[in-house]
Amino acid sequence: MDGLDKIALLNGEMAVETAEEVRHPPTLPPNATCSHPSVMPHPITSKNAHKQEAMPVYQAALPGGKRISLLKTMLTSACERNCNYCSFRCGRDFRRVTFQPDELAATFMKMHQAGITEGLFLSSGIAGSSIRTQDRLNAAAEILRNKYAFSGYLHLKIMPGAEHDQILRAMQLADRVSVNLEAPTVASLGHLAPQKLLAEELLQPLRVVEHIRQTQPPSQGWSGRWPSSCTQFVVGAVDETDRELLNASQYLTNSLKLRRAYYSKFSPIPGTPLENNPCANPWRTHRLYQAFFLLRDYGFSTTDLPFDPTGSLPLSSDPKLAWAEAHLKHAPVEINRAEMVQLLKIPGIGPVAARAILSTRRKQPLRCIEDLLSLGIRANRAAPYILLAGRRPISQPTLF
Ligand code: SF4
Repeated sequence: MDGLDKIALLNGEMAVETAEEVRHPPTLPPNATCSHPSVMPHPITSKNAHKQEAMPVYQAALPGGKRISLLKTMLTSACERNCNYCSFRCGRDFRRVTFQPDELAATFMKMHQAGITEGLFLSSGIAGSSIRTQDRLNAAAEILRNKYAFSGYLHLKIMPGAEHDQILRAMQLADRVSVNLEAPTVASLGHLAPQKLLAEELLQPLRVVEHIRQTQPPSQGWSGRWPSSCTQFVVGAVDETDRELLNASQYLTNSLKLRRAYYSKFSPIPGTPLENNPCANPWRTHRLYQAFFLLRDYGFSTTDLPFDPTGSLPLSSDPKLAWAEAHLKHAPVEINRAEMVQLLKIPGIGPVAARAILSTRRKQPLRCIEDLLSLGIRANRAAPYILLAGRRPISQPTLF
């Protein structure tokens, strides 16, 4: 079996890795029950086109917003752990593949040079200990950077329990590193991945990443910068709540400076202990992403979010709109006096729009909806919650 055949065999399994995914709102209504993760192969127009349907190459959004084609693959799909939701868990009956690090690097470069993929997301099952697996991941990255002079995007997975020097080496080679937390609490992780230790194996490597960024010069990184870091949670397989997921996400972004938390919608996999559990509702992960961005970019805290008594976000409403209905509907914000943090809480106004308002009103007050529209603001969305020069603006009512 050649390297391309091995990568093709992994197709379908990689859809659960949501890092860098280009998000779209769900197409099904919020009360839909089940849909499977979508694999979005990038069009391949090379001499290997006969394998195009089988290549796990995704359109990906990079940390700065740039879009690239990204190969998501594994160094090995063999694994000694038994995570209850995972297709790679030990003992599950399917055909496994293993690359040598130089074979993986050579196969990727072949695809890269053929124009099939611009970047690489490289993960691995744990085979022969986390330490050995991390060494092999780092070896593949070293071959790519040093032997092939690959200067494109590389996202390297950090194995649970990886050692400090291994994490440092991965950070010197990658543009992004990640550790999948999978669950926000010890209890929910116990149901998902009974052999994983939340604090010691998963959180500790993320602490090491941030400690290295804070204490060592970024010139050690291959591009002169330290990589960003992120994590992923599996949503809807067990009993974790949205409140727990977002509390954990807030801690990770505030304290460990993670750039992103990704929320992978659970879909049951035959031959695993959770095979009879229902799919998670795609609207749940959509609302989690909306809430995550409110926490990261809009000055919200988890205490602002509209959780119900069970700790769930409403599926049918945007959390920012729900907050505004509760807090701004009867106490609208004067656009000409509000501070940045208040502007960011108004529906239809994001960081770019808020900066535009602050800049414009230094020269002249904003008096009508047209003034907001001229700044590119979704003024009708904001209108029910604002005052312009002391007056409620006239606009079309929202559909909330
Ligand atoms: S350690 Fe990773 S690859 Fe192995 S079973 Fe768990 S989630 Fe799957």
